[in-house]
Amino acid sequence: MRTNNLGYPRIGGNRELKKACENYWAAKISLDELIEQGKAIRLHNWQLQQEAGIDLIPSNDFSFYDQVLDLSLALGAIPPRYDELRSEPLTDLYFAMARGYQKDGKDITAMEMTKWFDTNYHYIVPEFYNNQEFSYQSNKAVSEFIEAKNAGILTKPVLIAPVSYLLLGKEKEEGFNRISLLNNLLPAYLKIIEALVQEGAQWLQLDEPFLALELTETEKEAILISHDAIRSAFPQLNIMVATYFEGLNNNTQLACSLGTNALHIDLVRAPQQLEDVLQHLPGTTLLSLGLVDGRNVWINDYTQSLQTIYKAVKKLGKERIIISPSCSLLHVPCDLDSETNETSLTAEVKQWMAFAKQKLNETVLLKQLANSENMTIAAKKLQQNIDAIASRNTSALIHNELVKERIANITEADGRRNSNFAIRKPLQNAALNLPLFPTTTIGSFPQTPEVRSWRAKLKKEQLTKTQYDTLIKKETEETIRFQEEVGLDVLVHGEFERNDMVEYFGERLSGFAFTQNGWVQSYGSRCVKPPVIYGDISRPEPMTVYWTQYAQSLTQKTVKGMLTGPVTILQWSFVRNDQSRSITCTQIALAIRDEVADLENAGIKIIQIDEPALREGLPLLKQHWPQYLHWAIKAFRISASVVQDATQIHTHMCYSEFNDIIEDIADMDADVITIECSRSQMELLDAFAHFNYPNDIGPGVYDIHSPRVPSEEEMVQLMKKAERVIPAEQLWVNPDCGLKTRHWDETKKALAAMVNAAKQLQLAYEPEIKQ
Ligand code: GLN
Ligand code: ZN
Repeated sequence: MRTNNLGYPRIGGNRELKKACENYWAAKISLDELIEQGKAIRLHNWQLQQEAGIDLIPSNDFSFYDQVLDLSLALGAIPPRYDELRSEPLTDLYFAMARGYQKDGKDITAMEMTKWFDTNYHYIVPEFYNNQEFSYQSNKAVSEFIEAKNAGILTKPVLIAPVSYLLLGKEKEEGFNRISLLNNLLPAYLKIIEALVQEGAQWLQLDEPFLALELTETEKEAILISHDAIRSAFPQLNIMVATYFEGLNNNTQLACSLGTNALHIDLVRAPQQLEDVLQHLPGTTLLSLGLVDGRNVWINDYTQSLQTIYKAVKKLGKERIIISPSCSLLHVPCDLDSETNETSLTAEVKQWMAFAKQKLNETVLLKQLANSENMTIAAKKLQQNIDAIASRNTSALIHNELVKERIANITEADGRRNSNFAIRKPLQNAALNLPLFPTTTIGSFPQTPEVRSWRAKLKKEQLTKTQYDTLIKKETEETIRFQEEVGLDVLVHGEFERNDMVEYFGERLSGFAFTQNGWVQSYGSRCVKPPVIYGDISRPEPMTVYWTQYAQSLTQKTVKGMLTGPVTILQWSFVRNDQSRSITCTQIALAIRDEVADLENAGIKIIQIDEPALREGLPLLKQHWPQYLHWAIKAFRISASVVQDATQIHTHMCYSEFNDIIEDIADMDADVITIECSRSQMELLDAFAHFNYPNDIGPGVYDIHSPRVPSEEEMVQLMKKAERVIPAEQLWVNPDCGLKTRHWDETKKALAAMVNAAKQLQLAYEPEIKQ
């Protein structure tokens, strides 16, 4: 029996890589220093894995920015617009592809970025052209293999397999399918692998994540051809095909027929696939059991994992078993040992958790237990594990009977407004007295360095709570005055008191814990520190009423209360794995519902419940979409439906491809939805041409992701386009998303133009006002 790892976080325990990259980009360190920093991180990671007792240690899982971009560079898949940078050092060309290049009169856009399957990691999307040629260009995989070999560690290099690489990319011109590039692509792959074999590589990990998704016949055929070519070119090389995030399902036979030496499957996400795989796995192929969760922060349940291992051993024999994490550990933080702050993460909760380093130990321990090795220590660890799992099952910290009872007593009516929209709308009109094309914003106003510095000072106790509140009040008041002056119809308080739209609520809900150093790479040098949901969720006291009420007290205009929705809070946290996501989401929904009720009681007439992450929660397999949408939409409705008919519920989403779930979005039954679409008005029109969206809608007309100030005329034109498919009485005028990353000067100009645009639109309906 062997142990294996598929990839290790490269950002560094103290985000060393982030800091090094950002210093290099700011010209504060040299290229050599950057390269040294990368080397140090790699060596540290390899040694850590060796000391833990991992047999198959990955290399080429390191990246200065993104592993897909590394591969594009290695294969010479460099879009033509970067040709003029070919004389620059390769690292600079590489960063230009990732981040764009604006220097010496050159202005080249970055490559597109998108989410890596259903994770929060973003990769750089390969760009493909008809008849594109590939060639072996960067020897990163080989040089890192040599680097490890020189340190005495014979690693297993990792490459994304050819077909998955093609599928991760996008055709940049019409009239061809990227799979047709396989013939051109394979020789470049073979060159890389040949160089690895020459240097002494005995194992190669080929990631083929698309094997766990739905494939066309052509794609299946291409997978067969590509593995056939690699296997026959290097008969001595041991190849492990790795799949993750889903089960093999209909592709089980295909995966088992590739003739590779080992197959890795994710048994955390898809434990049910084991049976089928054991059935079809051919004679000598090894099976890598992905048992340790690479996507979440909880300890492994050894007892349960051992049962799975025994089942596989019974069928295959010990020699054919490899014990592994479920996927690359890239998606979890580095080291739980660095969490020493008892107030944010108590010892009780911490004993239930494992980060990347701890997960290596778990992997090795599972092998020892299954193999009866090192039993004096292993047996003790098993007992500790059994105790920890038992304490988690019964802990009063996790289980709140009141919450469970509330969940059990939810009725259909809890997810339904008192009346339907047709009845609500006139009541709201009477209560709010808004013009046609009402104007509003999405919630946040610029979070200046000053505002952020107050929060930092409060944390370091350089400001008292009263001093801090006074500063935030002043900022809020100025923002209310600005909104009045510029003439917005529905105002917001500006969200100055919030660090982050999920963290702010997590800190005020029970059942959440926070880490000091639990960073996970999101893209490039950007890291996020997701909250940890460990227990039943409840809301001990109001979270936003104070600030919303304060803002409302300053003005005669309506101030909209701002909340983050249950699906988004769930999606952007590490969630508990001892109950379904849907139950956790419903618990959050009840907490938000209480907040909504309190806001309404405090006299707030409009409440917005943001759900920007609703779409990214969609399962990888379309067949699972209806189930997810059912509980996610229901959770939103539970959070919103507590209010009277005259109280207006808004929601906000920021993505534009919602055509395929437009009916579910309508089913949320928010009175008003504001959405991001200033960059892709056409897609919006598409959706509405085919579907009569029943409620009110604010298609964003101001792209807040850019410092550019849009003109009044431009925004009028965008709204007119929308008017062609949505009746004017249903339309709102607003930016794409929150303004917190923008500067005040552009914000002021853009919102002034936006209000004028709305006035122009109104005039068309009230010609008598026109002089
Ligand atoms: N209300 C939030 C804000 O304005 C919404 C942010 C988001 O959609 N991501 O910042
Ligand atoms: Zn948004």
